[in-house]
Amino acid sequence: MAALVFDLGGTHLRSAIADDKASLLNIKKKRIKSFIHNYSPADIWNEIINEIVNYSSDAQSLITKESPIIISFPGPVEFPSRIINAPTVVGNNDAIPDLVEKVKHITGRQTYIINDVSAAAWYFSNKIDSNRFIVVTVSSGIGSKVFDRGKVKGVLDDVPFAGEIGHIVIDRKNDALLCDCGGKGHLGAISSGRGVERFARIEANRDRINFNKSVCAATFHGSPDNLTNEDHIVPAAKLGDLWTINVISQCSRPLATILLFLTAAFGLDKVVIIGGFALSLDEIYKCILQKEMADICDYALLSNKIDDLLVMGDADEEACLKGAAVYSLNI
Ligand SMILES: [Zn+2]
Repeated sequence: MAALVFDLGGTHLRSAIADDKASLLNIKKKRIKSFIHNYSPADIWNEIINEIVNYSSDAQSLITKESPIIISFPGPVEFPSRIINAPTVVGNNDAIPDLVEKVKHITGRQTYIINDVSAAAWYFSNKIDSNRFIVVTVSSGIGSKVFDRGKVKGVLDDVPFAGEIGHIVIDRKNDALLCDCGGKGHLGAISSGRGVERFARIEANRDRINFNKSVCAATFHGSPDNLTNEDHIVPAAKLGDLWTINVISQCSRPLATILLFLTAAFGLDKVVIIGGFALSLDEIYKCILQKEMADICDYALLSNKIDDLLVMGDADEEACLKGAAVYSLNI
């Protein structure tokens, strides 16, 4: 049975038809209105719904009447279909429509919505043969989902907080870094790509002498006020700069602790790392996180496993679309 699959991101809506082997046809990528450019939430939701409806209507000759719609969504979803919030789509706005009901009503098709990290977990379930793994995204924030092949539903995401590890407080100090959600000392405030950038600026200000010797400053002309991942931190880490590697290591330490707990608690056999920041550093990031995990693991049954635990996920920009396609085979 073919399915219509959609991946909603903060800036684009991707659409495709998935065949009964989860291969994609007719891929379309459309830039959508953003709250950053002052479009109202109603305008943005209407555009998204219209795009999904129009794509479905145009694709009719390639699908059947029974073909369902699967939407990968960039925010927490309460099973079966309630969107909790959508900060990357409409900012902090609570007027969230029942997207699934509206699309289902207009198209007459069964419609499903899954969180985007869940979609990524479905994607990797088709790529790796691990029985129980966690997908962790390290980008502007941090999120995760566990996949268990022994479960009919695969991804453990039937409660809306499943995988929201980025909002656990790991630093209770008064001057702890602020998370994008407004909370203080959250895992996502320090271990994310944005967290690394913030912490690097603080470290550069705190110890100017050593910062000035770093590749970030000496080669890439960064200053404590303008350090960015793209222009300074990632390229310096790729050159093996010790100051930069140390900054990333310190930021990764809380994530390493949490991943070790999750690995022990769930009996995970793989930790799949995705997300723009982590993938931009690729094997360097893997080495840093692996070392941080090894340093705090003092239990032989688990420490023997750490060298073989982390995988850098080769997620391309269509991974969530492909994951929605795999999900369609498991409805
Ligand atoms: Zn938070």
